[in-house]
Amino acid sequence: MRVGFVGLGTMGGAMAANVARAGFEVSAWNRTPGRATELGELGVHLVGNPAAVAAASDIVVTIVSDTPDVEAVLFGPDGVAAGAPRGSLVVDMSTISPSATRDFAARLAGQGVAMLDAPVSGGSEGARKGTLSIFVGGEAADVERARPVLAAMGTTITHVGPIGAGQAVKAVNQVILAGAYLGVAEGIVLAIKAGLDVEGVVAALSGGAAQSWVLSNRSGRMLDNDYPLGFKVALHRKDLGIALQLARETGTALPISALCEQLEAGLIGKGHGDDDVSAVARAIRELSGLEG
Ligand code: NAP
Repeated sequence: MRVGFVGLGTMGGAMAANVARAGFEVSAWNRTPGRATELGELGVHLVGNPAAVAAASDIVVTIVSDTPDVEAVLFGPDGVAAGAPRGSLVVDMSTISPSATRDFAARLAGQGVAMLDAPVSGGSEGARKGTLSIFVGGEAADVERARPVLAAMGTTITHVGPIGAGQAVKAVNQVILAGAYLGVAEGIVLAIKAGLDVEGVVAALSGGAAQSWVLSNRSGRMLDNDYPLGFKVALHRKDLGIALQLARETGTALPISALCEQLEAGLIGKGHGDDDVSAVARAIRELSGLEG
């Protein structure tokens, strides 16, 4: 099967590498040339635009930043829609709006091209190791068509409902993460201010009910006040924007997500938008009189 990739950023570059390693014939495009240079050694063909990727592929994966960016690579000049043969399949793995996803799928269906939404969780580590969790929305037959390709990128692949449902599940995931990051940030700052051995605290908590992926993998960054990527603050704020919009549409109150989104807005305003999202600890540190 021939697989195309549009977007070779932190996630897309690593995911394309795993698909190539799994033996698929891969072609790819990135807006800015020179990213993910290791893909050449894996036999990935770099082509000139998304339409050329689509023309050379049975399945095209898009993994770019935000809703307007997916629209641009699908329907812009030389976009995927301009090259995709009838009967091919687009799998958008970016985190974007559920309602826009349904609109994009309807536009592609008009030219005989199917679409799945398949956003991911598991971070840059999961993308590199091929251990992502993938939430898939769309027709069951299309999910089965894509499954071997998705299995090269992730270990937990769940068909969660019709088109757009994957993005709604991802919004739930990001809401839960907002609480997890803020909770760990508050705990770590309290431990620092209370004069505790913070690494010892993390080890002591790791077998109890406060244990979490964020506590295990990101508390060290909060202690060091250094936040290498990771997952950008700006992208998590974008995801909370999607979740808060879904909350408005469904009459749901999300006070922690709204607070986290505002703290992230402040971090972005101070130039920390490209830090890892664990940098929400900067805001809690600053409020507590530590270096932010
Ligand atoms: P990233 O490193 O910032 O890369 C973004 C990619 O999108 C780059 O290839 C960029 O191209 C491309 N892009 C953005 N706007 C574009 C446009 N208008 N036209 C064409 N290409 C465009 O981001 P990432 O971390 O890979 O994230 C990609 C998606 O995965 C996002 O939706 C994010 O929310 C989601 N995600 C990320 C993580 C994570 O831990 N990083 C985890 C789960 C989900 P250039 O190189 O030209 O800028």
